[in-house]
Amino acid sequence: MAIGVVTVKRPPERWSSSQPYFAILKGLGVSIRHFLHNLLLFARGQQDFTVHFPEQRLVQPPAMRGMPVLVQMDNGKERCVACGMCEWACPTNCISIFPAETNDEVERYPEVFDIDMSRCMFCGFCEEACPEEAIVMSRQIEIASYSRRGSLWHKQDLLVPVAELKTRLDHLRRQYEH
Ligand code: SF4
Ligand code: SF4
Repeated sequence: MAIGVVTVKRPPERWSSSQPYFAILKGLGVSIRHFLHNLLLFARGQQDFTVHFPEQRLVQPPAMRGMPVLVQMDNGKERCVACGMCEWACPTNCISIFPAETNDEVERYPEVFDIDMSRCMFCGFCEEACPEEAIVMSRQIEIASYSRRGSLWHKQDLLVPVAELKTRLDHLRRQYEH
């Protein structure tokens, strides 16, 4: 079979793109322009660039993925039915679930639901895999601990009332509508 050779026409090279110093000066010009603009706003008291954490906190957008948490229903129970989908989907194997049986119509619940936060990379795969909207990415990012053991979050630590997760749940439903 004959091989067709296609010659791609390249745009003529500009003088500026062949001069590395020109690009550096252009970049410096942009930085200086932004610096002077922000300095002027700051001098006029129109902009404060520092968030004085922890007294001040940024309001995180609903799309942000903080640590995964378990949805706690109004009756105090977890929404999770211990199907194991999130455990299976997790690329870092940081979720451990031990299911148990109940006498009600749900029939299953997680007797143990642990997440090793030192291995979690906030990818959100567990949230995507869950068929029950039972595990969602919260906006909680302050999860530092002094030991590896402290990074192991158990079911009781992970439960968050459904009302507090409304923003994220609404965001997820909007995503799946499209
Ligand atoms: S966010 Fe990703 S890494 Fe963390 S528990 Fe969920 S699936 Fe695993
Ligand atoms: S995928 Fe959802 S329902 Fe299934 S075990 Fe994980 S959190 Fe529970």
